[in-house]
Amino acid sequence: MNSRFFWSVVCLVLWFPAVQAQEAFGEGDLRRCGTPTREELIERYGESRFDPSDCSDNLTNPTEAYDPAASYQITVVVHIIMDDNCNVGSLSDDLVHNQIQVLNEDFQAIKGSSGEPGSDAKIQFVLATTDPDGNPTTGITRSCNTSWYNDNGGYYNDLAWDPSRYMNIYTNSGDGSLGYVPFLPANANGSLVGTNADRVVIGHTYFAANTGNHTNFDLGRTATHEVGHFLGLEHTFTNSGGCPSQGTPNCYSDGDLICDTNAELSPNFSSCNDTENDCGELKPIHNYMNYSYDPCMWEFTTEQIRRMRCTLESYRTDLYTIVNNNCDGSDVAVDAGSDVAVCLGSDTELSAGGSGGAGNYSYSWQPTDGLSDPTVANPTAAPTETTTYTVTITDGNGCTAQAQVTVTITDGVAADMYSYWRNEGVGQGYDYDSNNIVNVLDFVHALTACQ
Ligand SMILES: [Zn+2]
Repeated sequence: MNSRFFWSVVCLVLWFPAVQAQEAFGEGDLRRCGTPTREELIERYGESRFDPSDCSDNLTNPTEAYDPAASYQITVVVHIIMDDNCNVGSLSDDLVHNQIQVLNEDFQAIKGSSGEPGSDAKIQFVLATTDPDGNPTTGITRSCNTSWYNDNGGYYNDLAWDPSRYMNIYTNSGDGSLGYVPFLPANANGSLVGTNADRVVIGHTYFAANTGNHTNFDLGRTATHEVGHFLGLEHTFTNSGGCPSQGTPNCYSDGDLICDTNAELSPNFSSCNDTENDCGELKPIHNYMNYSYDPCMWEFTTEQIRRMRCTLESYRTDLYTIVNNNCDGSDVAVDAGSDVAVCLGSDTELSAGGSGGAGNYSYSWQPTDGLSDPTVANPTAAPTETTTYTVTITDGNGCTAQAQVTVTITDGVAADMYSYWRNEGVGQGYDYDSNNIVNVLDFVHALTACQ
């Protein structure tokens, strides 16, 4: 059958660049985080000796007064910076929604998500719906400027939305690291907070989860780590050649200024080995403020959460609003139904059912690829590749729950090929059987049992 010839020619031409691109990813020399060390920050901004707060740059006093009670909601704007051609650094709205979702999963330990094993800090993130002028917005801006893409040129002076009221996240090259913040809120007694430079920067290929860009940094936790800094957390490790003080109260004024994170000399760069020791204690390898691979990270400790909430209450008082929804994780639930298999090009109706909580549910499905409407309980799904959809249900009190359902494309090889062609912009090909130019989807259908 001559169709095989067509198939193999297209395979060779189209798959080769993908193989090369994969081999080009070497992750051995990556700089996990470009946030300056505590010593560098004190040298740059001075030590805040007269700061009375419980979360200064040289002390934590994590009393129970900072335990999560009401939820604090932070409004976010994401500035996507691309090169001059608006090409390198491009990110879809879907990926922005995906990253905001990851932040919520990790900071709230949402059930059913990869953040579930952690602790609920009751800190929520929402994209802005109004801009600083009061106009409706998606909470996403896009700019094309190669200098800005390379993290130069003071882009934040042009792009920042009032940093005292919005958390400004920028995606660009990341200045050679996966991400960074330029300072911690307590530096210089908090006087840097609210300036245009007050920001979170994420390398665009480390932004959002399940993008396939990097094997070990693909759960969106670069942003979780950097937002931890933005909310006043230091790295768990000292990296200064000596173990930090151990035992209370000295551990509140040395190292990461936190006592319920084990003392650590140097970052955990890769493995998720629970038996590694530093300073006579197990390394805190699961902590979001370490350098572990994304799947190994899932924890903010009780005292870290208290320090983050203290930082909001002491330095970022205009950044958050209190949401009194008293969600305890069991109020509302959602069932997304059973997994389903369909032929490529066919569709199926998904079905999410909410229960409990305050009723008056709203729904949000991610990713939105192939969905008729991602905001209804029963969207029609016609994905072009096997896709696991996550539905988030929100009740009238703002409490949320999640569930997943997978739509499997029954002919996986054909679906993968079609997905690749589509991403390369290939809509048509030459069929040696008929000597005709044919639609690629029709061609794939002809090769599968699904017709
Ligand atoms: Zn860091």
